[in-house]
This record gives sequence, structure tokens and C-alpha cells, in this order.
Amino acid sequence: MLRHGLLWLSERRGVYNFVRRNRLAWRMASRFVAGEAVEDAVQVALNLRTRDIGATVDFLGESVAAPPAALAARDKYLAILDQLHTENLEVNVSVKLTQMGFDIDENLCASNVCAIATRAKEHGGFVRIDMESSEYTQRTLDLYRTRVAPQFGNCVGVVIQSALRRSADDIQQLIDEGVRVRLCKGAYLEPQDVAFPKKADVDANFVALMERLLLKGNHPAIATHDERIIRHAQHFASQHGIAADRFEFQMLYGVRRDLQQQLRAGGAGVRVYIPFGSQWYPYLMRRLAERPSNVAFMVGNIMREMWPRS
Ligand SMILES: Cc1cc2nc3c(=O)[nH]c(=O)nc-3n(C[C@H](O)[C@H](O)[C@H](O)COP(=O)(O)OP(=O)(O)OC[C@H]3O[C@@H](n4cnc5c(N)ncnc54)[C@H](O)[C@@H]3O)c2cc1C
Repeated sequence: MLRHGLLWLSERRGVYNFVRRNRLAWRMASRFVAGEAVEDAVQVALNLRTRDIGATVDFLGESVAAPPAALAARDKYLAILDQLHTENLEVNVSVKLTQMGFDIDENLCASNVCAIATRAKEHGGFVRIDMESSEYTQRTLDLYRTRVAPQFGNCVGVVIQSALRRSADDIQQLIDEGVRVRLCKGAYLEPQDVAFPKKADVDANFVALMERLLLKGNHPAIATHDERIIRHAQHFASQHGIAADRFEFQMLYGVRRDLQQQLRAGGAGVRVYIPFGSQWYPYLMRRLAERPSNVAFMVGNIMREMWPRS
């Protein structure tokens, strides 16, 4: 119930405008968001590099309603790519199509994504197209296949969510096409006819899809903090002679830092997803929905700040 409520709230613009002005909500968000400026994200990436952990940078924002906002987001990404390159960091970003104008005009969206991919390619980098809610799944894969892949091949990859019933078919097709896939569970509230309602089924599907990607995928990214699944991936890889450099684990900034470090120390490839920017409200709500104790933590912080001990 709480998860559903938080995910429902994540899509409410009115609440968004209220929460964005709230200092305490920002304090909570800052646990999961690097900051509002490009420099904040780059600093986190530099810190991660000292621990030999990679990064993918996400400029927060989704569902833009007018072309200027999509163009501004594209330009922000171009600046991030240049700055990562200048700092001699690996050039790797994650992009949401609705931020690039997907809901306004698919041509605008494709040309923005291609501009970003062109710059990333010039810097020897990589662009991941994040996956949004299921109404976008087919359109996202279509845009990738028709507009992006022919020009940029493996400089750009996609994301598949184990929550969706269709994902087994998608994974098979993407494996056949040699596409680089990030596998995650899925962060959106979905209808039961398209997604598994039970978490146990989402987890079981994740394991099944992950095994297929490990065996046949093109450098898959296993994006989860689920330690049981991560251990299973490692065990499965060693059983099948799959070297640690043929796949990587990915986690979110602010979540399970201990596990990130432990996996890297054990020789696994680890990449952290670093979101930054002022549009952090929907992202924060999705993170809270994933772990109800985060809500208790936030409420505790707010109460401590409202009634500090004398
Ligand atoms: C790198 C990366 C990229 C992603 N990209 C996308 C995308 O493109 N599209 C999409 O729909 N989703 C994306 N996600 C989000 C993903 O779908 C899940 O919502 C999220 O990762 C939580 O699921 P989990 O696999 O960690 O498993 P869960 O079963 O939710 O959690 C497993 C354990 O991880 C820890 N944990 C998980 N989340 C949190 C949290 N917020 N705070 C504290 N502890 C936590 C807890 O210990 C929990 O018990 C991405 C996730 C990652 C890591």
C-alpha cells in the first residue's frame, strides 16, 4: 500500500511543486542525489574513481512539455559529457526519452538523443537509454532500433525491467541483436496485465533474465542492490566460466555503498548511477517507495529538525 501510495504521489505535479520548495525534503533527496549542478555529479564520479568504481551520470528530469525544455536538457547532457572528458573520467551517461521530448515529437527526441550519442562517441563514451513506465517500452525500443542503433551501435544501450511480463521476449531479441542491456526490476507502478504483481515473481524473473544475459548478452549490467541476486550472479558466472570483466553490477548513488565497495574489492566491475539536478522529486519518491524504512528515516529527520533536543 505504502509503495503504491508513494509511486502515485511521484506523478502528482501539485505535490512536486510543494515538495521542491521544502528544505527538509531536499535534505532527504540529497541522500540519493549528488546535487543540483554538473560539478556536483562530476565530484561524486571523481570520488568513486578513487575507489575504482565507475559512474553513469543522469541529469534529473522527465516528461518535458515543450521543445525548449528538451533542448535545454540535451545541452546539459552535452556539457556533462564534455566535463567528464575534461576530467579524464569515463564518459557515461543515462538519459530518459521523455526528458528529450518523447511526448512532444519523436523526431525532436531522436535528434536530441543522437546529438548526445554523437558527442559521447567523440569522447569514446557510452549512453544508456533509461526505461520509463510500460507505456513507453515498445516506443523506446523502436526508437533505439530505428533511429539510434544504426548510427551508434554499441555506444548506446537500453534497459529492461524484470517486472514486465514481456521482458523475456525483449531480452531474447536484444541478445540476438547484440545490444547492451541493463537489467533492473522496474521502478514504476504498472497494471497487472503488463507486470507481475508479486515481488517474488519479479525477483524470479530477474534471476532468469540475468542468467540468459550472463550466458549470451553483450556486457550486461546487473542493476540491483539485492544481495541474494548479486551472490547468485557471481556463483552462476563462476560455474559457467564467465569472467568478471564480461559483465558489471550497477547500483544507485546513496544505496548500499558497503556492498559496492565489497564487490569491487572482490574484483567485480561496479558502476554507480549518479543523478543530479533540481528535478529530483519523482526520483526521490521512487527511492522511498523501494524501501519503506527510508520514509521512517525521513520522518525521523524532519521531526528531529522541528523539535531539536535542547
Ligand atoms: C543503476 C540502476 C539503474 C536503474 N535504471 C532504471 C531504469 O532505467 N528504469 C527503471 O524502471 N528502474 C531503474 N532502476 C531502479 C530499479 O528498477 C529498482 O527500482 C531499484 O533498483 C530497487 O530494486 P532492487 O533491484 O535494488 O531490489 P529491491 O528488492 O527493491 O531491494 C533489494 C534490497 O536493496 C536495498 N535497497 C533497494 N532500494 C533501496 C533504496 N532506495 N534505499 C535503500 N536501500 C535500498 C534494500 O536493502 C533492499 O532490501 C535502476 C536501478 C539501478 C541500480
